[in-house]
Amino acid sequence: MGKLDGKIAIVTGSNRGIGKGIAIALAREGCKVVVNSYKEDEDAKKTAEEIKKLGADSIFVKADVIREVDMKSLVEHTVKHFGRLDIMVNNAGILVQGTVDTLTEQDWDKQMDVNLKGVFFATKYAVMQMKKQGTSGRIINISSIAGLVGFPGISAYCASKGGVTEFTREVALDCAQYKITVNAINPGVIVTDMTKGMINDEETRKSLLENTPVGRFGQPEDIGNAAVFLALDESSFITGHNLVVDGGWTAR
Ligand code: NAP
Repeated sequence: MGKLDGKIAIVTGSNRGIGKGIAIALAREGCKVVVNSYKEDEDAKKTAEEIKKLGADSIFVKADVIREVDMKSLVEHTVKHFGRLDIMVNNAGILVQGTVDTLTEQDWDKQMDVNLKGVFFATKYAVMQMKKQGTSGRIINISSIAGLVGFPGISAYCASKGGVTEFTREVALDCAQYKITVNAINPGVIVTDMTKGMINDEETRKSLLENTPVGRFGQPEDIGNAAVFLALDESSFITGHNLVVDGGWTAR
């Protein structure tokens, strides 16, 4: 028997990377998972199929987090198919490189649209649905340690994740009375397409590892395990928290 049997989850940006790790970790515990990305490619279909092989039900829904209408219909589609929504994981994200003096207005807007406005839209419709259901709910936002400490060369990204960190705390207060917990996970360096350029560069790889006391990079399942923990019924007293999963990076 899984720890999340009967629960229904949406994970945005879950056709690959950390989102896929979260979707699989939730499914292993018996959760039915809606896989999402804004492209309907082979990865998207494969992830939902992989989840089904674990014995959990799964569908793929194409939706762009920067479009409010898409986030509304993502929640509606989920409820139509599975009957309810218990867990919303806001994972979709991009990393726009640039220091403050090199970023353009377009760079800034693109970064904020996906990483911050997208979290707002998805949270809005998830909370509306959870309030309507009148039971408990879980919002889990994938922020970053870049939302807690500075990282050179990615000022818009840091600002977007700092926004997610603080948005998490505020929405937790608004939702506490409805038994909806709102938490964030702040990953350190995790091996995905987003970081492969840095990890494959010998010098950067060495420096990143030197800053990670446990001596290894994280894997998507490390974040999946943290998401399962926050999704449990037993975690109902944890809200407004930013859970750092970084191999000790920010403990130094
Ligand atoms: P990734 O491998 O690049 O995957 C990003 C995912 O987000 C993909 O599924 C992508 O879908 C989806 N996505 C991007 N824009 C979207 C949009 N507008 N609407 C819907 N989906 C969209 O990145 P990752 O490393 O797994 O990162 C996942 C999250 O973790 C991000 O929020 C990131 O900031 C955060 N994070 C990552 C690390 C790390 O070290 N990797 C560390 C801290 C935080 P497509 O495949 O369709 O493009």
